Amino acid sequence: MALLVQKFGGTSLGSIERIKAVAQRIKSSKEKGDDLVVVVSAMGHQTDELTRLASEITVDPPHREMDMLLSTGEQVSISLLTMALNELGTPAISLTGTQAGIITESAHGRARILEIRTERIKNLLDQGQTIVIAGFQGTTLGIGGIAEITTLGRGGSDTSAVALAASLEAAKCEIYTDVPGVLTTDPRIVKNAKLMKSISCDEMLELASLGAAVLHPRAVEIARNFGVTLVVKSSWDNLDGTTLTSNKKPDFSQGGIEHRSPVDGLELLENQAVVALSNIPDRPGIAAELFESLSEGGVNVDLIIQATHQIDSNDITFTVAENELHNALTQCKKLVNTIGGDISFQKDLTKLSIYGAGIMGRPGIASSLFQILSDSGINIRLIATSEVKVSCVIDAELGKKALRNVSEVFKLTDKQITVNPTIENNNEPEVRGIALDKDQIQISVKNVPDKPGTASTICSTLAEKNISLDTIVQSERKHKDKTKDISFTLKKNDRSDAKYALKELIGNWKGSNLEEGESIVRISAVGSGMPFTKGTAGKIFRALANQKINIEMIATSEIRTTCIISEKYGEKALNEIHSCFKLGKNES
Ligand code: ASP
Ligand code: MG
Repeated sequence: MALLVQKFGGTSLGSIERIKAVAQRIKSSKEKGDDLVVVVSAMGHQTDELTRLASEITVDPPHREMDMLLSTGEQVSISLLTMALNELGTPAISLTGTQAGIITESAHGRARILEIRTERIKNLLDQGQTIVIAGFQGTTLGIGGIAEITTLGRGGSDTSAVALAASLEAAKCEIYTDVPGVLTTDPRIVKNAKLMKSISCDEMLELASLGAAVLHPRAVEIARNFGVTLVVKSSWDNLDGTTLTSNKKPDFSQGGIEHRSPVDGLELLENQAVVALSNIPDRPGIAAELFESLSEGGVNVDLIIQATHQIDSNDITFTVAENELHNALTQCKKLVNTIGGDISFQKDLTKLSIYGAGIMGRPGIASSLFQILSDSGINIRLIATSEVKVSCVIDAELGKKALRNVSEVFKLTDKQITVNPTIENNNEPEVRGIALDKDQIQISVKNVPDKPGTASTICSTLAEKNISLDTIVQSERKHKDKTKDISFTLKKNDRSDAKYALKELIGNWKGSNLEEGESIVRISAVGSGMPFTKGTAGKIFRALANQKINIEMIATSEIRTTCIISEKYGEKALNEIHSCFKLGKNES
């Protein structure tokens, strides 16, 4: 007999008929002999509806009152579902977040779960009850003595379910939803997109624009940190769905179930070298040639960065482990001999990365990382960002100092810090899934001063307006006047606010100007096997070159390669890359 946590979303509970059908499904699970804790969302679009009611009264409702209001949605569904279960002869009892012992921080509307006091749940399970718990809500009872209802933020009932599964050490957490699971890519664009049998939590987080619609990233992060086996599947059939995996061992000694800081971990990777190719031709096929020849030379590249075209020439910068530098340079020289361009390199570098689902959509995080480094007098040689990670390459001698200061500001414990992590090769695929993000524009700030604090100033200027930068790329090339270029993508919606704020800022920097690139899309290939496979980037670039698609920007993290390309090629490129890794139905 195992303990299962099952979560049902709003659509699955959209009507009385559906609630009865869910009760039937729970009854049959229960009859298999498992213990069940069920977590539910509000019925249908109830949370939106309640929000609308509030907006008819005020444009700025107090956060506390919003939590009082919104938490009622889940209270309706727990009681109705419990009645339906009892009608079927399945003994069940409903609990609100407070009654279930879900203790959160006090931030109304976006509270993080600190702990779950599971005694009551365990007692009820011992009595053979099926327990139906309101998702999305908790209480501050445990922290200040005053019981206030809190909510976790939209989509938060996934988070409740996984946090319960972690605290109860459940065998599995099943998320029942209205899609069959996680697909290898967007099925509206790629006809043979395939359901994934499994995906690691890290990959899921990096595929945010593909996965976040299916599962809340905060839930994925808890599953990752506590090694919860998480399954996403359809509530309409009995198929297996997608299993999310994490090989971490649960560890409750770290403090809260969710960290109080949005940053989940800090990593330092030493003995890195940067190789920069500049003034190489800007045409399809160059990046492919370069990374194919590196892979032939046995070189495994880590970060790759390409940005800011200078009319028709280009710079590509990448990092390798120091002991691969010699081979990398040999391959680069061969290439530059035929296509032209300059090579430079630097050793004695360290890569510092912060990561965590909390970084997503919080512009202040990257900007405070840059700020800490600049306050510590540390110049950032290279920046690479992904959905859940920001990496900076800095001088090795400053690595330890950076580590100390960054972990202090983000309040990280020793357990959250890793120096030179060894990651295991579990023969995971080099590419598991591919996301296409059409919601981005590309902006370059040209000729910015090359000194500590520049990137941080740009980011914090935008963060103040609540604008997130994605795919920040700081070019390696210095102009004659010792200035640099920084490029990034941001959400289309933020275009005019961002431009306005940036124009004001660069007014302070003589000679600096703003350039918006043509309409672009962002394609990201993600796979845990990527760090162990030589040539993944080369394959992606070759797939694009074969279609004569030029790459505007490249940015990578360990398990992800992102290309920014012209919008008009987006769907074609997605299909090409998807099939080049044989991800589709009937392909593997
Ligand atoms: N009912 C809440 C919402 O709609 C929580 C959830 O569904 O996960 O955001
Ligand atoms: Mg939901």
